[in-house]
Amino acid sequence: MAFNLPKSTASAKAPIPADGRTRQCDIAIIGGGIVGKACALGLAQQGFDVIQIAPDIEQQTPKPSGDHWAERIYAISPGTRTLLQSLQVWDAIDHARLQVVRDMRIYGDRGQASDGLHLSAFEAGIPQLAWIGESDLLEHTLEQACRFQSKLERVVGSLDNLFVEPDGALLKVHTAQGPIEIRASLVIAADGANSSLRSMLEIQTDEKSYEQRAVVANFLCTNAHLETAFQWFLPGGDILAMLPLPGKQVSMVWSTFPENAVRLLTLDASQWQSEFAMLQDGAIVHTLGTLTPHSKPGSFPLRKIRAQRVIGPELLPKVILLGDAAHVMHPLAGQGLNLGLRDVATLLRIMHERESFRPITDLVLLRRYERERHGDTSAILWITDRLKRLFTSANPLQKNIRNWGMGLVNRSHLIKRYLIKEALGEVK
Ligand SMILES: Cc1cc2nc3c(=O)[nH]c(=O)nc-3n(C[C@H](O)[C@H](O)[C@H](O)COP(=O)(O)OP(=O)(O)OC[C@H]3O[C@@H](n4cnc5c(N)ncnc54)[C@H](O)[C@@H]3O)c2cc1C
Repeated sequence: MAFNLPKSTASAKAPIPADGRTRQCDIAIIGGGIVGKACALGLAQQGFDVIQIAPDIEQQTPKPSGDHWAERIYAISPGTRTLLQSLQVWDAIDHARLQVVRDMRIYGDRGQASDGLHLSAFEAGIPQLAWIGESDLLEHTLEQACRFQSKLERVVGSLDNLFVEPDGALLKVHTAQGPIEIRASLVIAADGANSSLRSMLEIQTDEKSYEQRAVVANFLCTNAHLETAFQWFLPGGDILAMLPLPGKQVSMVWSTFPENAVRLLTLDASQWQSEFAMLQDGAIVHTLGTLTPHSKPGSFPLRKIRAQRVIGPELLPKVILLGDAAHVMHPLAGQGLNLGLRDVATLLRIMHERESFRPITDLVLLRRYERERHGDTSAILWITDRLKRLFTSANPLQKNIRNWGMGLVNRSHLIKRYLIKEALGEVK
């Protein structure tokens, strides 16, 4: 018996095309973002025949170089570094374009010196807390590694439909050359926040819009950033992060309400300077000096999405959700991509350690993945959401509690070490 998704064709058996254009593989991956690429590479390296499908899979991300810095920047946790090392891509990344972060300084919105929180690699006895790098740098390096992986085939196309059968799945893919079909034992959904595969499987999501947008841009600063990531919780609920980049440069992520985001996108260099001078009684300018725009600003909506299940369909699971297809969060903790790559690391470990008698779609393996990702994902989404709520609240009592709480945490080495350990995101 075959499941056909969506429901409109639920009773039909998947038709096999007469033209022989059905391809076969162990694992099909839908999505060509960083999460999809890392997963495809890791599974191919384990010896699986992998086909990766995405409309933008062959769009070559140019190697970032020179004085141009992409505005889409990621914080890379040590856990992500471990994954990239195991995929043998970490050393291929141009390290001159990565900035080590050794300190994090977080400031409350009462303007009192005692409200801040300082996390330090030195204090925790580790070399660094994280690295900051361009999205294109990761995309480009992963892309190069994928190109040379003989077990990985890349198909430029979009998933149109999926039929789930007892021994695998049949995927209908739309390509520029016409429709093709792919038979796979296991299917990975890494097709982003609006995952069509998730919808086809009728997996429900818990969603919430933060009614904020993140405005991102790079700035040159006249003061040294001292390898420190700064975050200011501003009165009114805005959150301003300044992440260090190589040289005297920082990457700004300003989470703000949509009307203000529209306004920020239109500012010229001198207007940005007055904007920063006005904030937090000049604390930003005092810390980083004069800030001059060094990239075009961009913006993206902020929302929380959590898929209610990360394997599907319910009765006969053959599909695993990873990355933004499974969860999207507020960027205040810089954990979105890191969490998606922890999904990948967990899946790779489960496949690597699987007992020889188990096929890759064995329900035990899929349930292992589901169980292992549940705790980490729930904790990160919950903490990020609560922090966001706590710092947007205008309630004077909550305002005092949040600021006082940060000062209190700052005085406890034990709690700080715990926070750092959690933020490092090492995969067990
Ligand atoms: C504009 C923007 C800016 C962002 N900036 C930051 C930032 O500065 N810092 C930060 O930490 N996070 C940022 N994020 C969030 C971060 O980019 C995501 O957490 C991360 O990219 C998730 O990776 P992913 O591979 O799971 O999904 P994505 O990167 O969204 O990749 C999804 C892939 O699936 C493909 N796809 C979609 N539908 C189909 C289909 N039907 N068939 C086949 N393929 C399909 C797409 O083409 C794409 O290749 C930003 C997000 C957006 C949208």
